[in-house]
Amino acid sequence: MENIFPSPHPLVAHKLTRLRDRATDHRTFRELVRELAILLTYEATADLPLRVKTVETPLAPHVGQEMTDRIGLVPILRAGLGMVEGVWELLPAAQVWHIGLYRDEQTLKPVEYYNKLPVEPTVSLCLILDPMLATGGSASATVDILKRWGVRRIKFIGLIAAPQGIARLHSDHPEVPIHIAAIDETLNDRGYILPGLGDAGDRQFGTG
Ligand code: URA
Repeated sequence: MENIFPSPHPLVAHKLTRLRDRATDHRTFRELVRELAILLTYEATADLPLRVKTVETPLAPHVGQEMTDRIGLVPILRAGLGMVEGVWELLPAAQVWHIGLYRDEQTLKPVEYYNKLPVEPTVSLCLILDPMLATGGSASATVDILKRWGVRRIKFIGLIAAPQGIARLHSDHPEVPIHIAAIDETLNDRGYILPGLGDAGDRQFGTG
């Protein structure tokens, strides 16, 4: 499948294994989510456009480069919030736009409960952040919302994906690159990824 980018990096594999471990405490879990978000964002931003920017070093002028994009981070609440901390370290000027979707436990479909996007888009590239790409319903609905807002370029960054989530997001929005630490086996009947890591929100926020 095109546009699916599982990370090949050993650091990502190492940190993801620690993240999955049920013995990992909440504090360490949050720290690992932050670190993995940094590593995956580094990979996901490898093709961003640059323009010429000239600066004066203490010794001489230098014709360098700067990024052209205005970047929006769109964490899917609540589990995506922990990834913002890491991505912001790399992209401190990024705007953060919150879109609240919850998954109806019966239908497993996303329901929108919070969205304060202004009328006109204020960014040229959105990075959707969600640790778990499970059914793909929330991610796909978020892309729909961002496209309606007028954003042309959108990327998804997550930690673990189920094949079902990848298939859904990719078939609904084939042009959206999916950057992920690992692709797991399947979903259970409650929509959790197997083997996964459990509930990413509960494990970050200590509510499990
Ligand atoms: N959300 C989670 O937190 N974990 C899963 O396995 C699936 C969705």
